[in-house]
Amino acid sequence: MSFVADFNALPLDGLLKRSLSATPESVGEVLAGPRQATADFAQLISPAAGGYLEALCRRSQALTQQRFGKVIRLFAPLYLSNECVNNCKYCGFSRDNPILRVTLSVEEVLREARALKERGFRNILLVAGEHPKFVSTNYLLDCIRALRQEIPGISLEVGPMEADDYRPLAQAGAEGLVVYQESYNRAVYAQMHTAGPKRDFEWRLETPERAYAAGFRRLGIGALFGLADWRQEALSVAAHADYLLRKCWRAQLTISLPRLRPCAGEFQPLTRMSDRDLAQLVCAFRLVFPDIGLVLSTREPARLRDGLIPLGITLMSAGSHTEPGGYTGAGKENIHRTERGRIVDLGASEWATTRNGDLRATGQFDIADERSPGEVAELIRRLGYEPVWKDWDAALTA
Ligand code: SF4
Repeated sequence: MSFVADFNALPLDGLLKRSLSATPESVGEVLAGPRQATADFAQLISPAAGGYLEALCRRSQALTQQRFGKVIRLFAPLYLSNECVNNCKYCGFSRDNPILRVTLSVEEVLREARALKERGFRNILLVAGEHPKFVSTNYLLDCIRALRQEIPGISLEVGPMEADDYRPLAQAGAEGLVVYQESYNRAVYAQMHTAGPKRDFEWRLETPERAYAAGFRRLGIGALFGLADWRQEALSVAAHADYLLRKCWRAQLTISLPRLRPCAGEFQPLTRMSDRDLAQLVCAFRLVFPDIGLVLSTREPARLRDGLIPLGITLMSAGSHTEPGGYTGAGKENIHRTERGRIVDLGASEWATTRNGDLRATGQFDIADERSPGEVAELIRRLGYEPVWKDWDAALTA
């Protein structure tokens, strides 16, 4: 048994209908209760609940402070490689995109991590495209071993693996595994993922459970908003979170709320989710799942991030780069161009003209909040919260 069986039995159409037909009265009844249950989630994300946004925000803020204190954990993504065997229409790293690619050596990864450490980070998310030749289990193992003496919080966002492949990574010191389903809508998922192993919807859906079985103590899930209807996606994420809280109860669970950003390939969002919708969703997740971490990345612009911090966010990235070598320029010498998955000589192309200049690997997507980690930390303090760079150490569980 896995979440796939529960997901297949989920009455998504009915839940969505219930959400769209909610009334101010029915939402008021839900809010009148002492606490909100998973069954109330559809009401809380409804258009009718949009009229209660201020009340939702106040309640979400109070609950977050009660459970987490006035604390925001900070992390940074460290991109290891932008090689990928998949074609995902919305992603700059897609196999067929003619972009500049590189995989960092372990020494280069360490250089990047040290640069992040100098900026204050002790929580790092290692990110890579899915390409077993470049990003093998052994490569990841070498990266984790090289980093763990200096970086206490290491999480992974890499291509899904078997539990047996995850196990040595968790044992080596990686504490968290992040895997977004991207879209929980099977039809949209099939339309978006046109080549590569990622086409297997169910294999991806079961990934958090394999990671948990392998010993990861933090699990991160989410949908990429902008592909299918945001309420339908949110209902699926809520069902997934509810399942994982019951079945993988020893792990800490986080939900990310990424919205599509511009990237190579020029993909345009298929659906819209407004800033107000996003704020409402943060509150709905908080009210129904008081102890789940909510993650906000630099995909969102500074002003919106500042406004969302007090509403229920517990974990934020800052000063992010989405290209390998982005923090130090590491890996420059090995950057190459690929066309439809094949390496081509830079030759006299437009890329080559910058070879001795600012040649950088292509990023996964454009970030919107370009403030430095120090500026973000300062803003967090000004809002009356404490920025936390490190909240866990491997020595504590030895
Ligand atoms: S989303 Fe991930 S799997 Fe898909 S192309 Fe981008 S890096 Fe590769």
